[in-house]
Amino acid sequence: MKITVIGGGPIGCYTASLLSKDNEVTLYEEKKEVGLPIQCTGILSDTIHEIIPIKKDFVANKIWSTRVYSPNNKFLRIDFKKPNIIIYRNKFDQHFRDRALKNGAKIVHKHRFTGKKEVLSLETRKKKKIDYKMLIGADGPLSKVSELNGLGKRKYLQGVQALIKKKNDNVIDFYPHIGTYAWAVPQTEDVLRVGVATEKNAMKIFKEFSKRYKGKLLGWQGGLIPLHNPKLQTAKNNVYLVGDAAAQIKNTTGGGLIPGLISAEELKKAIDNDLDYDKLWRKRIGKSLWTHYFVRNIMNNFDDDDWNRLIQLFNKKSMKHILATESRDKPIRILTKAILRNPSMLKFFKKIF
Ligand SMILES: Cc1cc2nc3c(=O)[nH]c(=O)nc-3n(C[C@H](O)[C@H](O)[C@H](O)COP(=O)(O)OP(=O)(O)OC[C@H]3O[C@@H](n4cnc5c(N)ncnc54)[C@H](O)[C@@H]3O)c2cc1C
Repeated sequence: MKITVIGGGPIGCYTASLLSKDNEVTLYEEKKEVGLPIQCTGILSDTIHEIIPIKKDFVANKIWSTRVYSPNNKFLRIDFKKPNIIIYRNKFDQHFRDRALKNGAKIVHKHRFTGKKEVLSLETRKKKKIDYKMLIGADGPLSKVSELNGLGKRKYLQGVQALIKKKNDNVIDFYPHIGTYAWAVPQTEDVLRVGVATEKNAMKIFKEFSKRYKGKLLGWQGGLIPLHNPKLQTAKNNVYLVGDAAAQIKNTTGGGLIPGLISAEELKKAIDNDLDYDKLWRKRIGKSLWTHYFVRNIMNNFDDDDWNRLIQLFNKKSMKHILATESRDKPIRILTKAILRNPSMLKFFKKIF
């Protein structure tokens, strides 16, 4: 079958690699190179091992601990049983591009999808007709495939991140109350990825926040982070959305790589077996994304006292153990165990009603 994939990010390339063994796959990417510019912090939970083997060449760092700060500047330290993996996004994306090419996909660079059956060459400025049986939108947060096929409006956070030269102790710092959330993630022992994600005033909030991490500025990165909304449609007739285009993202952390890769696998299963893609990906990760969506909606109503109390509540051995052993890609387990160990957690739910 002739399949067109729009977008050569990690999710588009993974989708193309899975489908090109049995189909004629052409992927259109508007940029001249896969993986650049980098617009990501590149943290992956241990769940990544369930999807792909980890290659040394795209791993920047492994981190075993996180400090989660509250507004009163106290923190909760979590020492994970299994490390978080910090990747170089350019190399990670190129890994999936290579897999797609190896399996026979054709990748056409510098071509922008502009109409339902049309791409624009960014070199010649000429429009070309495209022909396919199936169209897959892996074209990121501002998905043109979604827009042209009426697949719903999205909301976004703005992400701003700087690379800062600064010696560090290889611990992730996470601030769930600054902007929508803010972070400092060690790339190496002397480089930090420092950033904020927020609905508005990203640069202003970033400038204030980054005073905590003074050092030589090595570069800027940033981009939009779509907000998951369980009501968004991800398939219509012969058109499918995957990855950020489908807003398959964890709203509490902005992590979209693992949900996107998992959804690409479900799309392959749906196409091979003539099944309902929307049902398949929701069956595998729908509840998890919904939990992140639900928890984030509660947290949006938190004031400083709520954050201080929540972090204090988790700062007990039995509660910390849950965070240390359970993956944030399986948040229902975290939430259920936390409520069972400490039913007073339930009082935070009143924040949404
Ligand atoms: C600041 C920041 C930090 C983040 N940190 C993390 C993190 O630590 N961990 C994590 O898991 N996730 C993180 N994310 C989210 C993660 O980057 C995304 O979930 C991921 O990039 C989604 O991949 P994708 O392939 O769906 O989309 P993208 O990576 O956005 O790729 C889409 C591709 O489509 C191309 N494209 C777009 N429109 C067209 C068109 N019309 N025609 C042709 N090509 C087109 C684009 O050029 C792009 O290459 C972060 C995001 C931001 C902004």
